Amino acid sequence: MFKLSIVVPCYNEEEVLHETTKELTRIVTNLIKSDKIAPNSKIVFVDDGSKDQTWNLIDEFSKENEIVSGVKLSRNFGHQGALLAGVTAASKDSDAVVTIDADLQDDVNAIPKMVDSFIAGSEVVYGVRNNRDTDSAFKRNTAEMFYKFMGWLGVKLVPDSADFRLMSKRACEVLLSYKETNLFLRGIVPLVGFKSDKVYYARKERFAGESKYPLRKMIKFALDGITSFSIVPIKMIMGLGFFIVLISIFLLIYTVVQKINGHVVSGWSSMMISIWALGGVQLICISVIGEYVGKIFSEVKHRPRFTIERDIYTEKTLKEEEE
Ligand code: UDP
Ligand code: MG
Repeated sequence: MFKLSIVVPCYNEEEVLHETTKELTRIVTNLIKSDKIAPNSKIVFVDDGSKDQTWNLIDEFSKENEIVSGVKLSRNFGHQGALLAGVTAASKDSDAVVTIDADLQDDVNAIPKMVDSFIAGSEVVYGVRNNRDTDSAFKRNTAEMFYKFMGWLGVKLVPDSADFRLMSKRACEVLLSYKETNLFLRGIVPLVGFKSDKVYYARKERFAGESKYPLRKMIKFALDGITSFSIVPIKMIMGLGFFIVLISIFLLIYTVVQKINGHVVSGWSSMMISIWALGGVQLICISVIGEYVGKIFSEVKHRPRFTIERDIYTEKTLKEEEE
């Protein structure tokens, strides 16, 4: 029998926490009863610097329910940071870790299937959604474009899988050895390797509350994904540069021919157009380079990716070991 931990990042999730705890407790209890996982298996809520009652609820639940534990981050580190904190705490003494969103959009009933696949020898089991009906058309289309673009850049992603997955202890350890500050987990996990599997599920509506991923965060997330994994944009600039040089050679020849033939034009319009067009192109190129320089700047500082303020998971584990 192995110990399972279910890591749940939470940011201002007071409205869903009751229901999520109930559902996950049901799943974990059933798995314990059927002797698939160890009785000391845990749910690990990670409070990502919530401003509402989230932490108080986690603390309260962990007192009355032995399956529930939690980790409190010192401030908001973002979804990926929260996941990482949870995986770091849980993988120390769990044999497998499942990560799932707090809002019950991911189907908790897929967890037993993931566990079965793990028992059968898979080290990474992806939760793959077989519908996107519950997302808005805008989110659906942009997500599809993003996955296509990433594929085109040569980044291997598992389409339609988000951060709902199971990982073995060994896979978690490898994952944690990737030290990027701007961690794009769904791009890193396929790089971990090992035997993997997929479990399909239907993605539901958020149980309550609203998305903690406004457009602004989504764009940042997508850009992070692209620039963390690929230098194709830099190469594209070079191609663009050559292309423009080629065009200007043709223009040069054309102008000389015009001059020889005596058709001298006043030149103002072509001048203005080229100044503006080139200026624009240069700015775009510089901004792309800037994006990478910025990335180097933030990576080179090696700042902590999360800071734990309190760790009820470890507190509980140590206590259980003593007993
Ligand atoms: N989340 C987090 N920190 C943040 C933003 C979100 O821990 O800064 C959590 C959030 O509580 C949820 C998960 O990440 O459990 C996914 O967020 P959400 O459901 O709002 O995103 P969506 O499903 O709308 O993409
Ligand atoms: Mg959600």
